[in-house]
Parts: sequence; C-alpha cells; structure tokens
Amino acid sequence: MDCLFCKIISGEIPSDKIYEDELVYAFKDIDPQAPVHFLIVPKEHIASADDLDESHKELIGHVFLVAQKLCAEAGLTKGYRIVNNCKEDGGQSVDHLHFHVLGGRSLNWPPG
Ligand code: 5GP
Ligand code: ZN
Repeated sequence: MDCLFCKIISGEIPSDKIYEDELVYAFKDIDPQAPVHFLIVPKEHIASADDLDESHKELIGHVFLVAQKLCAEAGLTKGYRIVNNCKEDGGQSVDHLHFHVLGGRSLNWPPG
C-alpha cells in the first residue's frame, strides 16, 4: 500500500521515533507547530477517525495513555493538546489515522 505512515512504521522511510509498542508508533512531526509536536499512529492502517469501529475501542484508549506517558516524559506538566484532523474538512493531509500531540507553549483556541 502506498501510504506514507505505513512506510514510516515499517522503517522504509526514516523518522525521529520516540516510542513504539505492539499497537502504536510515535515520532516527531517533520514540521513542528510547537516546541513539542509528535504524532501517535496506530500500526494498523486505518484511513481516518471516521473509519473506526467497535474493534478499535481499546486501541484508541491506548493512544491516549501513550500520549499521557510521553507528555510526562517530555516534562509537559502545564498541559498539552491531542488533535485528530479527520478527512478533508478536518484538514487531514495523510490518510493514515494519527493523533498530533502538541505542547511546550500556550496553545490558541479556537483553531482556524
Ligand atoms: P495532518 O495534516 O494529516 O493532520 O497531519 C499530517 C502531519 O504529518 C503534518 O503535521 C506533517 O507535518 C506531518 N508529516 C508529513 N510528512 C511527514 C514525514 O515524512 N515525516 C514526518 N515526521 N512527519 C510528516
Ligand atoms: Zn498506512
């Protein structure tokens, strides 16, 4: 499958990996929007959040616990943001489900 994030997970395309387990892979975003900006992606190819089903409930809970652990390791005691851009109107540019984790500065709300 011609998927950028599948290639990153397999190592075919290099990435700055920060964490990996049986379910997820996490790596630094190539175009960081905050002092800390990494992506958590399921190893399973799921196109978007709109493609999730009942079988993915444990996986998504796991993503949030991995985010919490990695943010603690990054020293983000004042907080952080977890973002999922879903499909065209949500601003998704890579069609493999991923969660942005941003921190290290005060983040604006609402987004544009
Ligand atoms: P989206 O716009 O789909 O929510 O987020 C895709 C993210 O992937 C963007 O923040 C973009 O900077 C990041 N990205 C795109 N290509 C690469 C790449 O080759 N390596 C890394 N590390 N990040 C990438
Ligand atoms: Zn993929």
